[in-house]
Amino acid sequence: MKAAVLYGKGDVRVEEREVPRPAEGEALVRIRACGVCGTDAALFRGEYPAAVPVVIGHEFAGEVVESRTPALRPGDRVTADPNVICHECEYCRTGLEHLCERASSMGVHRDGADAEYCALPASNLYRFPDSLSFEEAAFAEPLACAAHGVDLAGVRLGDTVLVVGAGAMGNLIAQCARISGAARVVVSEPIALRREKALENGATDAIDPGATDLGAELRKIRRLGADVVFEVAGSPAAQAACVGLARKGGTVVWFGVAPPARRVEVSSFYVNENEVRITGSYNNQFATERAVRLLAERKVKVANLVSHRFRLSEYPAVFGAFGGKDTLKLMVDTGA
Ligand SMILES: [Zn+2]
Ligand SMILES: [Zn+2]
Repeated sequence: MKAAVLYGKGDVRVEEREVPRPAEGEALVRIRACGVCGTDAALFRGEYPAAVPVVIGHEFAGEVVESRTPALRPGDRVTADPNVICHECEYCRTGLEHLCERASSMGVHRDGADAEYCALPASNLYRFPDSLSFEEAAFAEPLACAAHGVDLAGVRLGDTVLVVGAGAMGNLIAQCARISGAARVVVSEPIALRREKALENGATDAIDPGATDLGAELRKIRRLGADVVFEVAGSPAAQAACVGLARKGGTVVWFGVAPPARRVEVSSFYVNENEVRITGSYNNQFATERAVRLLAERKVKVANLVSHRFRLSEYPAVFGAFGGKDTLKLMVDTGA
């Protein structure tokens, strides 16, 4: 089969690989669509530790072609939680599976989904209805992560939520915040296309931080600052700035992935005095099933988020486009 394999910093190659064999309890999936994630870009830049060489990609949907589990049958349309957990460590046994000490994540530690096939345990696979396209269902993983971030933040009815960075993930977080009852969802994003799509999908306000003062604009909407601020750009400077944009007692979620060695400088006095709560948000906690339901019930819009499509054979070109002007979600068509 064809697969896009990450060998190291700046080195990804499309090559022939053996089709994986499903173990007992697993299914073999013919992958039909795989989204490109900020994590993939960080992996390509050498800013995210990985067990290379590894097939890249983890946001996918496809069709079961061989099943060694009673839970699935050939022909089932499936998406996945790409993090294979141990079920044995203390985190797994206390409901914090997403923090498993021996987690093996597709596209990072184990072969991923920018390939024609993958094999995964039944417990990682989620069926979705025919009404969803493979491309739409490939959003289940990022949407599950977005839902987890919104769960952690505890967005409440009537809140003002600020989302810094409105790429695909920021857009999904903005939508989740809105349907959680936020009265105002403000996105800050320098790329015009992304601001436009955020407004189209339910954000109430979109600010270009290059053209205006974000803090001043936010305080025109809510004098105290935002109840919840999500940083989705993975920029340490923005992560620091977000702390000052939350109201007293507000919550800041550092959602974006920054390189491990980077540091954020914040005033601990300010955090202390204002009781700002800062939390990370990593992967998702039992959110994939809910993400599939949100997609199937059309509560979250994703079809208008795909800005570019690539064939699997063109995979190395993905990172030339990633993050560029007029880009949003890049999608890889892994073939019929
Ligand atoms: Zn992802
Ligand atoms: Zn575990």
